[in-house]
Amino acid sequence: MDWGLTADQEMIRGMVREFAEAEIRPNAGTWDKEKEFPSETFAQLGELGLFGMVVPEEWGGAGLDGVAYCLALEELGRTDASTCVAISVTNSVYCAPVNKFGTDAQRERWLRPCAKGEWLGAFALSEPEAGSDAAGLTTRAERRGDEYVLNGSKAWITSGAVCGAMLVFAVTDPTSDKRRISAFIVPREHPGVTVLHKEDKMGLRSSCTNQVSFDECVLSCDHLLGGEGDGLKIALDSLDGGRAGISAQAVGIGQGAYELARDYVQEREAFGGPIGRFEGLRHELARMAIEIHAGRLLYLRAATLRDRGARNTRQAAIAKLHASEAANRIAYQAVQLHGGYGYVTDYAVERFYRDARVTTIYEGTSEIQRLIIARAVLATAQAGTA
Ligand SMILES: Cc1cc2nc3c(=O)[nH]c(=O)nc-3n(C[C@H](O)[C@H](O)[C@H](O)COP(=O)(O)OP(=O)(O)OC[C@H]3O[C@@H](n4cnc5c(N)ncnc54)[C@H](O)[C@@H]3O)c2cc1C
Repeated sequence: MDWGLTADQEMIRGMVREFAEAEIRPNAGTWDKEKEFPSETFAQLGELGLFGMVVPEEWGGAGLDGVAYCLALEELGRTDASTCVAISVTNSVYCAPVNKFGTDAQRERWLRPCAKGEWLGAFALSEPEAGSDAAGLTTRAERRGDEYVLNGSKAWITSGAVCGAMLVFAVTDPTSDKRRISAFIVPREHPGVTVLHKEDKMGLRSSCTNQVSFDECVLSCDHLLGGEGDGLKIALDSLDGGRAGISAQAVGIGQGAYELARDYVQEREAFGGPIGRFEGLRHELARMAIEIHAGRLLYLRAATLRDRGARNTRQAAIAKLHASEAANRIAYQAVQLHGGYGYVTDYAVERFYRDARVTTIYEGTSEIQRLIIARAVLATAQAGTA
């Protein structure tokens, strides 16, 4: 496989890096402290075409491939993971499935404005009693004549309070085993939709994460995405794309924390010189650099497979598991290399440490990634393939 990036991919990475360094890095600490969602910066990101990166230009998107998209997420993660997660959700698990499974009429109405950057999208799969066990969700969409009526609650919805529309997964056929669930495009401002509690999080504090409830929320049939019963397939396919993106976000968080540590050990002096001259610390930096490099190669492979139209479930799970666990190890070590200064909010490294933590939890925990990988490994072993 050729790992060289194309001129377009390099250009996107450079453009996002330039924007992030100028507009995001100087403000990310304040947004985090004040738990402030940076609406103006998101308006700029929308104008730059970062809401619908992989959406074809005919539907208002930037028409990029998944590799360019992941490179952009890495750059955002490197400066501010909160900004990165909202961009990741709107691209991977809102725009991508609406583009892939929607009709032209749905794309016109629910994809074009988001891809053009007018509003963010959200993904409402998890519920208070169903996270890892997403197939066990209970939000109900009951067919009544030409309409569906939605009742239930969703939890942990990234951008729930600031999105224009969300993809909501609900039970349409409680008697079915495999085709219980369907996907619906639901505008945030719609009768029967209430955005509730905003979570007070350890990290990603400027991203809003909300509970959302549906109470006799009436939807015409044109809100159904794909066919009735296709919901779980749509959710799992979206998450395969999403996990490559979360891997890139995690690599970005690791890269950002590593750079802070690398610079700090060259400035901080102890025992008559910079602490970076101590071999023990140099080995730590080498370990961090290797983990980042491996994570980057893994997400590039997961994204490349998807760009080629191949199934990337196993590769995306491997990339997500490695990159997210590595981001936590790297951010931990970056705080350690800062000594006491790593433990106070005057230094950005503590934000990276807090932000890294969630990457092993959302879009499937590490334990769930291991289940997915083990299933794939055993299936290939039985089939006698590598
Ligand atoms: C900041 C944040 C943003 C999020 N954004 C979104 C979003 O936009 N949309 C959305 O739908 N969801 C979102 N989520 C939800 C997230 O995907 C879930 O939290 C995650 O899937 C885990 O589900 P849970 O919290 O219910 O934990 P549980 O499923 O209750 O898991 C608890 C523990 O049990 C383990 N476990 C569960 N089942 C198994 C098993 N079979 N084998 C081994 N171990 C197991 C888990 O790994 C975990 O360690 C977000 C979460 C957070 C924290």
